[in-house]
Amino acid sequence: MKLADIEQFFESWAPSWTAWERDNVGLQVGRRSRRVKNVLVALDVIPEIVSEAIKKKVDLIVSHHPLLFRPPSSISDSNAIGSILLSLAESRIALYSTHTNLDSAADGVSFALAHALGLQKPSFLAPMKDSLVKLAVFVPGEHVDRVAAAMAEAGAGIVGEYERCTFRMHGKGTFRGSERTQPFSGKPLQVEEVEEIRLEMIVPRARVKAAVAAMKTVHPYEEVAYDLYTLENPNPNFGMGAIGDLPRTITVREFLTRLKKAVHADCVRFSGALTQKVQRIAVCGGGGSELLDHAIGAKADLFVTADVRYHPFHDAAGRIVLVDAGHWETEQVVLPVIASKLRAWASAKGEDLLVSVTQRSTNPIHSY
Ligand SMILES: [Zn+2]
Repeated sequence: MKLADIEQFFESWAPSWTAWERDNVGLQVGRRSRRVKNVLVALDVIPEIVSEAIKKKVDLIVSHHPLLFRPPSSISDSNAIGSILLSLAESRIALYSTHTNLDSAADGVSFALAHALGLQKPSFLAPMKDSLVKLAVFVPGEHVDRVAAAMAEAGAGIVGEYERCTFRMHGKGTFRGSERTQPFSGKPLQVEEVEEIRLEMIVPRARVKAAVAAMKTVHPYEEVAYDLYTLENPNPNFGMGAIGDLPRTITVREFLTRLKKAVHADCVRFSGALTQKVQRIAVCGGGGSELLDHAIGAKADLFVTADVRYHPFHDAAGRIVLVDAGHWETEQVVLPVIASKLRAWASAKGEDLLVSVTQRSTNPIHSY
């Protein structure tokens, strides 16, 4: 399969429009037309990972953390990033990064952590906001299915696990065209009445342009009447963190023991007492301290994240058990998920794709 196909796979799972504005996700190195047979999945792209990729004759590295954040001063061995880019290009290895978009996806980083900890039916801790628009368009009845299908193809009409969601209401539209018009029905300079359907579909903000363009392509009117409404609804398909329940109440001591094993952590930092009982658990892989209030608001007994500073531990006192289990530790759980999803997708397409997860830790932090 081609690199462009793999790009499509990630776009459908963790679309790049869900990434944070200042992030740099997607294809970092490579030609989209190149064939890919062998993929290596890693959290970070460091020289040791590139060496492993060369040794394994890999065509593509999929990393969580993007290599390119700031442009390197040169693509040469005079700087660390340039040197890695040079090695990748010389060895014809592509690099694709899925970062905050993977944090925001169902089955992404935080869901992987939730599953690794045995949380039941995890859901988003903070569903994405301000990302949905309602598109309402007025269509003559016999054209409504075609218009709805075109909008759905462009990404409209997805609500949770349901797609092609529409609402259709019958009504009467009126118009009078100028002498320069060629109306779909009636004549110019005459007031016309026509039976129409008001077709409504929800659209992610990033897909609005595409949905409107697709709708206009198949809509029979010379001048299409449509409305766009900004919605306050949280987006149920994307968000940050995850929350779910353990099958039974356990002590913080039992939970931390389970956590250390699940994320390969030598030690974890926490507030509260080892004897406290917990069942409802919130998680956010990587640095997620800013979700502390969400976790408290969602009545979680305990919140696992990373990169926690001193003061949030004080803020948590008496309200929630706050645990810092390490950045690499809480994120690396997603690597096998990326690999297995890629394998399943490729085999469903009847393609041979070898996908391996690096066994090397790229964690630069050690405990002593
Ligand atoms: Zn990270």
